[in-house]
Amino acid sequence: MSDKILVIGESRDGALRNVSFESIAAARKINESAEVVALILSDLDLDKQAQEMIYYGADRVITVQHENLKNYTSESFGQVVMEIIEEESPDGIVMGHTAIGKDLTPKIAGRLELGLISDATEVENDDDQVVFTRPIYSGKAFEKKVIKEGIIFATIRPNNIASLERDESRTGEIEVKSIDVKDLRTIIKEVIRKQSEGVDMSEASVVVAGGRGVKSEEGFKPLYELADVLGGAVGASRGACDAEYCDYSLQIGQTGKVITPDLYIAVGISGAIQHLAGMSNSKVIVAINKDPEANIFNIADYGIVGDLFEVIPMLTEELKQLQKS
Ligand code: FAD
Repeated sequence: MSDKILVIGESRDGALRNVSFESIAAARKINESAEVVALILSDLDLDKQAQEMIYYGADRVITVQHENLKNYTSESFGQVVMEIIEEESPDGIVMGHTAIGKDLTPKIAGRLELGLISDATEVENDDDQVVFTRPIYSGKAFEKKVIKEGIIFATIRPNNIASLERDESRTGEIEVKSIDVKDLRTIIKEVIRKQSEGVDMSEASVVVAGGRGVKSEEGFKPLYELADVLGGAVGASRGACDAEYCDYSLQIGQTGKVITPDLYIAVGISGAIQHLAGMSNSKVIVAINKDPEANIFNIADYGIVGDLFEVIPMLTEELKQLQKS
């Protein structure tokens, strides 16, 4: 059984990503009584973040701060993670299935000659066997997987495994580790993000996504207003991105982002199979489309047949009124 589980946390611009806490919850699901050791890396001071990891269920936190950990490269992060794995000899490793997690974990698994279960949406400890559920065929089916020998190594899809309740009375050791991250072939000096404002789509609990039906860049404005009221993020179909109504960083689907928010509102999106691949596992799907035959209605929990330019402002107004009362 996994007596010690290493959770690799992730921070962005000085703040921990929610999937770091969800990974702690996943580690507890692997083995409730295991020691959960969290690792966080950055060029910034990590004291506060380490404390947060403890409040969310980590027993011990290792922080590594180094100027070469400012921006992710598999070489810099890989050096640190490999060193910590060698020192700690964990029985399990969990990380978020994020852009960094997707890049880093297969490399670590390859180096250590381990199996890796990627993109898990559920973890169960069934009769002392740890069973992971993961979507296959672009989310049309699910498979269950177990690792029969060696370290249990998995990445978990953000927004699927609920983090444990934050508890400020929890205590744990914070170990500041000094590792010289050196001999790098590449150092990323600066990352310029295309979309720097608003809520991060992959972690948002509400996503309002626009399609070709939105008709223009201007047409996206009411979607931003609705997302604002709901505290959510704006996404898009490839149709909308191809038509240059918005940036490709917003694209959801087979060749875009895969997201699982609590609420997904598809606006003027027909529901092509490639789009569904990115959002069909959302918890509640609302579709707004003027065509009652649109495929999106086949997977929607709630459908509104109507002109989006009438429906969205009404919906936004109604929600604003609700929030006031
Ligand atoms: P359309 O199919 O044109 O649908 C527009 C919808 O808006 C229609 O249903 C229409 O009834 C509705 N509408 C129009 N006006 C209004 C109005 N005023 N009010 C309400 N409704 C209105 N697509 C993705 O999204 N993501 C991907 O990752 C992706 N990857 C792909 C990969 C490959 C290899 C291929 C071949 C395709 C991929 N596509 C992807 C494209 C996909 O096949 C569709 O072409 C695309 O999703 C269509 O976008 P859409 O629904 O916005 O546009």
